[in-house]
Amino acid sequence: MIERLVLLGATGDLAGRFLFPALAALSASGHLPEGFEITGVARQDLSEEAFRRRIDERLTDHAGDVSPAARAALLRTVTYRAADVSRAADVTAVLRGRTSPVAVYLALPPRLFPAVIEAVGRAGLPDESRVVLEKPFGDDLASAISLNRMLAEAMGAAGEAAIFRVDHVLGMATLQNLVALRRNRVLAAVWDRAHIEQVEILWEETLALEGRAGYYDGTGALEDVIQNHLLQILCLVAMELPATGDVGELRARKLDVLRSARCVASCRARYGAGRLAADDGAAGTPVPAYVDEEGVDPARGTETFAQLTLELDSERWRGTPFLLRAGKALKQRRKGVVVRFRPSEELWMGIDGPSDVALRLTGGSFGARAPVDLRGEPPAADLPAYARVLVDVLTGGSTLSVGAEGAEAAWRLVTPVVAAWRENRVPLEEYPAGSDGPPSCHGGARVSGSARGVNRFDAV
Ligand code: NAP
Repeated sequence: MIERLVLLGATGDLAGRFLFPALAALSASGHLPEGFEITGVARQDLSEEAFRRRIDERLTDHAGDVSPAARAALLRTVTYRAADVSRAADVTAVLRGRTSPVAVYLALPPRLFPAVIEAVGRAGLPDESRVVLEKPFGDDLASAISLNRMLAEAMGAAGEAAIFRVDHVLGMATLQNLVALRRNRVLAAVWDRAHIEQVEILWEETLALEGRAGYYDGTGALEDVIQNHLLQILCLVAMELPATGDVGELRARKLDVLRSARCVASCRARYGAGRLAADDGAAGTPVPAYVDEEGVDPARGTETFAQLTLELDSERWRGTPFLLRAGKALKQRRKGVVVRFRPSEELWMGIDGPSDVALRLTGGSFGARAPVDLRGEPPAADLPAYARVLVDVLTGGSTLSVGAEGAEAAWRLVTPVVAAWRENRVPLEEYPAGSDGPPSCHGGARVSGSARGVNRFDAV
């Protein structure tokens, strides 16, 4: 097990909101070995004490359920180094003198990835070390290919096993439940185009921009959510189930899905002024139109809602459309998968809370016309998603990491969509904040095989 973590970007939002809380959960559950060390790195000139205080505050905000003893134990493992990692000499200085394996986690602005990868390669890492990269992995196909080349060169003989591309949804226990559910013989028997009319993979949020224009404007729903998270979920829903626990086999099956998929229609929109319909206490809050949010440049044409209709050219799925939809400021928070069976049964699996599973049965078999809803809640997850990801990182696993070819295939799949949008072949529509989304995308309606009501374009 790797017992040293070098966290580049340790004062950032990701570190404070997710990584340190995940490490605290690991500390509380006894996953961190005696002598575990974390070196936090950022440019700010902070004393070790000031850094620990800051992390402690973030833990109060985001890991309130972790015991004070576990938090204190975690903080004792933490040291801090001020360094500018865009300079190779600083990276070398941070990594110097390490002889046991280390995980170097790039929780940094993605524009720094190339320089840091190169510097890490030059500095050299002890055997069995790993480099961990946050999303986004590139901002188009060419940059993803280029990052992969740089990584392969930097990690040399250690190769792909030393590289971990994070997509934290893969750490969600609910996705592992989904794969387990697919192994159930009742479902396995009907998991194909003969029985499934349509699949929807949803990431619908009630929240609007929340002051994050600096990050979101210019990224948008397609690149922020669909290109990575929803395509990873698609892989797990649609892949042929691997026969073994081998990572190579898992990656090959996921790759089959991405390579068989093509986007046949898409829809994009941004929210106009409205009232939030959030069920988290913010309901009724007025929000300005996206283009009037502070920091947004309307000319960029960033979408806050995106929907892709994919067709998979495989024996199992030919003819069953997969709708991938992500949006902000919508009427309902729904993050999960809807499987619509023929003629009208429905299976719902919540992915990012609530993690409920519901099966709607219809027909005369119950002697009533009304459908029967069967609902269940799987046992609570033992660890948060980022904690599971970190366990995989530290124990040398790669089940929760996106492979090199998978990262490129995901970009290859959305490239024609990005091109069609850039050339305005698909209009940028508008929907009122707090609504179902643009009516032309039919909210949550069925597509019935022909992608009606959305903008079709010729896939390249
Ligand atoms: P952030 O809040 O802007 O934090 C960036 C961190 O990098 C800070 O600690 C910053 O500290 C440090 N940094 C920037 N330039 C540096 C340099 N030249 N040398 C050393 N440190 C430097 O960004 P974030 O939201 O944490 O995002 C980090 C990564 O996680 C990004 O790749 C992002 O896409 C990904 N991610 C974030 C989230 C999220 O919810 N935040 C979710 C998923 C993925 P100094 O300015 O003091 O140097």
